Amino acid sequence: MTPVDKEHKKRPRYISILRVTIQILSFFLINYIIIELIFQIDMDLFEGLIKILPILNSPRNPISNGAGFVEVIVYMIGQAEFPFLIIGVLILISLLSSRLFCGFICPVGSIQDFLSIFRSKKKQFSRKTHKFLTHIKLVILLIIIIAIMALGIAKVISPIFYIDYKNNLGDFADKPLGYFSLSEYLFVFLPEIIQDIINSGDILILFNDFVTFFIFFFYIIILIFAVYYPRMYCRYICPYAALSSLFSEYSFLKLARNPVKCAGRKECGICEKVCPMQIRILDEKFEGFTGGGECILCLKCVEKCPFNALKLKFG
Ligand code: SF4
Ligand code: SF4
Repeated sequence: MTPVDKEHKKRPRYISILRVTIQILSFFLINYIIIELIFQIDMDLFEGLIKILPILNSPRNPISNGAGFVEVIVYMIGQAEFPFLIIGVLILISLLSSRLFCGFICPVGSIQDFLSIFRSKKKQFSRKTHKFLTHIKLVILLIIIIAIMALGIAKVISPIFYIDYKNNLGDFADKPLGYFSLSEYLFVFLPEIIQDIINSGDILILFNDFVTFFIFFFYIIILIFAVYYPRMYCRYICPYAALSSLFSEYSFLKLARNPVKCAGRKECGICEKVCPMQIRILDEKFEGFTGGGECILCLKCVEKCPFNALKLKFG
C-alpha cells in the first residue's frame, strides 16, 4: 500500500456518515408505507406534509400515483399537454442543486450504494465502453418520448385514431416509464407481483407472461452488476438521470479541484478510483465541473482526497 493510499484510508468519514443518514431517512420517508408496516402507525396523518414536499411522494400518494418528475412529464406529453411547469421546476432544481437528489435522496441510488458495499474493490468499464453505455439512458428516454408524443399528436388530430393507438399501446399509454423505471418496478410493480404470488401460492406466475419475466431478470442482473460497478442503473439506464444530466451539466453547484494541491493521476488518482459514476475527474476543468451532468454529488472524491484538493463550489 502506498503512503497516499494509507492516507486516504485514514481520512475521516463525516460526509459518508451524513450521506448514509440522509439516505436512510429519505428511503423511509419516500416509501412511508414501510414505516406504517414496521411501526403499525397510520402515516395518513402526515399526508399534508407529504403532498407539499414533492420528494416525499410515494407510490401510494394519490397525487403522485406512483409517479415522479419524469413520469409526469412523459405522461403529459401523451395527453397532448406540454409540461412547462414541471420541466421548469426540473431545470431550476438541476441548475441549483445539480444531481444532489441522486447522491443523497433517491431510494434506488441508496439501494445500489448498499449493494456496492459487498465488494470493496470495484470494477470500471473501459473509457470507450463507459462512454458508449452512458448514451443508453438517453436513447431509451428519446424512444419513449417519440412513442408517447405520437399518442399526444393523435389525440389532437384524430380522436378515433387516438383511441385505437392507445389501446394498442396498452399499459404503456398510462404509465409510459413504467417498466423502464427501477423505482416504479421495485416500489409499485414488484410488490403487486409478490402479492399475486402470495395469494396464488404459485411462484410460476412469474413466468406466465414474457414481459414480467424478462423485466424481473433484467433488473436482477442490473442489481447484481451494481455490486461490481456502483450505480450501474443510475449511470446507464435511469430516465431521471438522462433528463436531469442535460441540465445539471450547467449547474451552479459543482466540484472544483485545486491543481496546486492535487498530486495527479500517477501519484494518486484516488478520486477517480472511488467515483461511483466513473467520472474522469482529472480530465475535467479544475475551476468547476459536473462530469457532463453525470456527477451525482456523492462527495466521495471530496472525502477521500488525501490532499483536500477537491471542494464543492457554487457559482
Ligand atoms: S484530486 Fe485529490 S484524490 Fe484526486 S488525484 Fe488529486 S490529490 Fe488525488
Ligand atoms: S465526481 Fe465525486 S461527487 Fe461526483 S459522482 Fe464522482 S465521486 Fe461523487
